Amino acid sequence: MKKEKLWQSILAEIQLNISQANFNTWFKNTQLVEYNGDNLTIAVPNTFTKEWIKNKHNGTIMEAVESLGEKVDEISYVIKKNKKEKKEVEKEEVKENESQMEFEEFKVDQESNLNPKYTFENFIVGPFNELSHAAAYAVAENPGSVYNPLFIYGKVGLGKTHLLQSIGNEVKKSSKKVKYIPAQKFITGVVNGIRNGKMEEFKSRYKDIDVLIIDDIQFLSGKEKTQEEFFHTFNELYEKNKQIILSSDRPPKSIRALTERLRSRFEGGMIADINFPDLETRLAILKTKAQERKIKIPDEVCEYIAKNIQKNIRELEGALNKLIAHHKLTGKKVTIETTKKVLKNLLESPTKNVSPDQIIKAVTKFYDISESDLKGNSRKKEIVKPRQVVMYLLREELEYSFPFIGKKIGGKDHTTVMYSHKKIKKKLEKEDEDMKEDITLIKQMMLSV
Ligand code: ADP
Ligand code: MG
Repeated sequence: MKKEKLWQSILAEIQLNISQANFNTWFKNTQLVEYNGDNLTIAVPNTFTKEWIKNKHNGTIMEAVESLGEKVDEISYVIKKNKKEKKEVEKEEVKENESQMEFEEFKVDQESNLNPKYTFENFIVGPFNELSHAAAYAVAENPGSVYNPLFIYGKVGLGKTHLLQSIGNEVKKSSKKVKYIPAQKFITGVVNGIRNGKMEEFKSRYKDIDVLIIDDIQFLSGKEKTQEEFFHTFNELYEKNKQIILSSDRPPKSIRALTERLRSRFEGGMIADINFPDLETRLAILKTKAQERKIKIPDEVCEYIAKNIQKNIRELEGALNKLIAHHKLTGKKVTIETTKKVLKNLLESPTKNVSPDQIIKAVTKFYDISESDLKGNSRKKEIVKPRQVVMYLLREELEYSFPFIGKKIGGKDHTTVMYSHKKIKKKLEKEDEDMKEDITLIKQMMLSV
């Protein structure tokens, strides 16, 4: 096997065994210098990378080589950044960026905050989302007059945002004024408005809008001040026959800590749900998306993915992206065997795709505290609870050791971490509804921070 080819294959193997982030950080700019059947020499860009790979990934590399049926006794490292190779590396990077651009050439529109990639044209309809789709379409045709508000609910990754934004993009064609905003952003807006005494300015942004779309309204739960502001905005627009469109992960009656008047407003229009997609639709989604990406995927591979990922369309797409990345890297055809290997991690533990930073960000955002407070030593109740929650989540989601979590959260003792973890766990076991709700919402937030 040629040197480059061999290295590409080894890298492809490695990629199956470590996280994408890790791979990008440590292996992207490496090259194979020499391989004589026993000794493998790898060029890395700097000493730091060399030490890191040597200490943490030596075994991973060996295993990768062996799984290709080759043998290796020792791995040596050289640091190399001569110009020619550097240029090659850069060229590769450009290429990769270009191919990413193909899919991400969509720019969010500043004024409406809508992403043009979400349209009715590329929204696949099946029995599970038929009603929501029909209602959304009707609203897009006649905003403000058919169903007001339109309330779409369904679990995460099932197409709520896509559908909501499709309405927005459709309405925008008729030069009506549309605004899309995730509820989390609306909350931040209210909080900042109050903090900086700029509430009027914030409100004025929503005054002369024809269609207001607020995504993930479940995050308003327990945020009384935001709910109050939203109630006024809602009424003002509603009375002017302006269209309001909302989404949530659950129906209005199940959103806890939602003021009664807001709940009855939400229930005053049309409520439609999106369910889990059936196997046939999941197959259709995969095939359509593969076609869009101009890649050929055998039927049995589509079936394998569609059978294994049932409850989340984002994960279906994620699986496809992983396959495409692997295919590009190795140049090999997509087969059922490679698919099983490539998707192993994804299928076994989908949540392991979250990083500790995502968890930390989601917790600070959710409780509206700073990261330095979270990692600091304050004993205030508003800080202690989030700190315990973050420790709990790092343990449960990523299975980190107690000492490691302690280190990560500002150098706390491992006994503190153990105590925090236990405390939250007990609360959940005792069916503490507030805590359960917090954890559910934070877990959702983790995926989008
Ligand atoms: P949610 O807001 O419910 O969490 P999203 O709208 O973000 O879900 O959907 C997740 C991903 O799945 C997006 O990339 C979206 O384009 C895609 N998707 C969801 N439903 C469909 C559908 N019916 N047809 C095509 N793509 C879909
Ligand atoms: Mg969404």
